[in-house]
Amino acid sequence: MDLRESTGDLSFRDEVRTFLEDSLGSDFAVVRGRGGPGDEHALFDERLAWERHLGAHGWTCVGWPVEHGGRGLTLRRHVIYYEEYARARAPGRLGIVGEGLLGPTVIAFGTPEQQRRFLPAIVAGDELWCQGYSEPNAGSDLANIATRAERDGDDWVVHGQKVWTSLAHWADWCFVLARTSPPADPRRRHAGISYLLVPMRQAGVEIRPIVQMTGDSEFNEVFFDGALTAAANVVGAVDEGWKVAMGTLAFERGASTLGQQLAFRNELDAITAAARRNGAAADPVVRQRLARAHIGLEIMRLNALRTLAGSESGTLGRAAMVGKLYWATVHRDLGELAMDVLGADATVCQDAGDAGYDPDPLQRLFLFSRADTIYGGSNQIQRNIIGERALGLPKEPR
Ligand SMILES: Cc1cc2nc3c(=O)[nH]c(=O)nc-3n(C[C@H](O)[C@H](O)[C@H](O)COP(=O)(O)OP(=O)(O)OC[C@H]3O[C@@H](n4cnc5c(N)ncnc54)[C@H](O)[C@@H]3O)c2cc1C
Repeated sequence: MDLRESTGDLSFRDEVRTFLEDSLGSDFAVVRGRGGPGDEHALFDERLAWERHLGAHGWTCVGWPVEHGGRGLTLRRHVIYYEEYARARAPGRLGIVGEGLLGPTVIAFGTPEQQRRFLPAIVAGDELWCQGYSEPNAGSDLANIATRAERDGDDWVVHGQKVWTSLAHWADWCFVLARTSPPADPRRRHAGISYLLVPMRQAGVEIRPIVQMTGDSEFNEVFFDGALTAAANVVGAVDEGWKVAMGTLAFERGASTLGQQLAFRNELDAITAAARRNGAAADPVVRQRLARAHIGLEIMRLNALRTLAGSESGTLGRAAMVGKLYWATVHRDLGELAMDVLGADATVCQDAGDAGYDPDPLQRLFLFSRADTIYGGSNQIQRNIIGERALGLPKEPR
């Protein structure tokens, strides 16, 4: 594969850059650099307007097929889009779960009716989604979920509790893993689980925010107490939702992260600027760590290129499995470097009155990047996946 950008790629890059600069330079200047992990609470109304602005101009869901409202971009152009998005410091996307996880899942596994019902509202930024997988006793061991759904006439009735549900407080819909049949064989707990699409704004759903280290509440506990959803809102076959759930996880760990070294690069630039300002850059050890961080980001970029090289068909291969483990670790280390560069100043936060404290962007980076090695599959689980699926090592004893 020739990794140089073609004339078409370069002009596509220009097109994305021009659109973002025009939009963020005027009406949407206020959202520049806001939102995203660690700053997710910021400027909801303004970012929702941004989401709809992107949708109206065809800049959401760019990797989806054209017939589903996307641009049908190749993986390479998809990455160019993410790179330019990060370079422009465009805001964290409110529609990220719908666009990155649920949409591709409905395209791959959903019925034509489900595709017609759910995809246009994601493209337009009209409906936001959250992911209802984890429970108090089911995280890495996801098949242990206890949330259950039963058929009652034309509806499913859902009971149970989810936890760590990001953005549930803003979501219109949740894709919920629920047990619809007991497993016939206790060694095959993956059977009997269904993938339900459940509306969030109803009496049977209670959302309780969880306060994080940053002082904000980006995720929640979600309680389903007789929540209803229509019988047709099952993706894939009833009792066979595990395959669909794993498909969603592959999307979560896949292409959407390939361009993010540029977002991390913005953070490293801020850390380097802070080191220059406060004199930390004169310390040879700090200089060495800044250099190491730079190398880490370069390796991310090269791994992204390697992933692309093996994926002309649009699917991601083994190199992508390494990606999640690598970027999560690089990002966590970047947060630690930021704190060491700031020194004693790192321990002091802005007083935010009733809201408690308000960490600055580098403090947020440190606090939030702890989560990177946990969500979407913890580092240990990623190592298992690499061992078993990429290297063909014997399976972990169950
Ligand atoms: C910021 C953030 C956002 C999240 N958003 C969502 C969301 O929107 N929706 C959702 O459903 N979930 C969400 N999660 C939950 C996330 O998916 C889980 O935290 C994750 O899967 C780990 O599960 P757990 O927290 O139950 O930890 P556990 O599974 O209890 O793991 C605890 C520790 O044991 C290790 N461990 C567990 N099993 C093994 C094993 N077999 N081999 C080796 N080590 C093992 C883990 O690596 C970890 O270090 C989010 C989490 C975070 C941090």
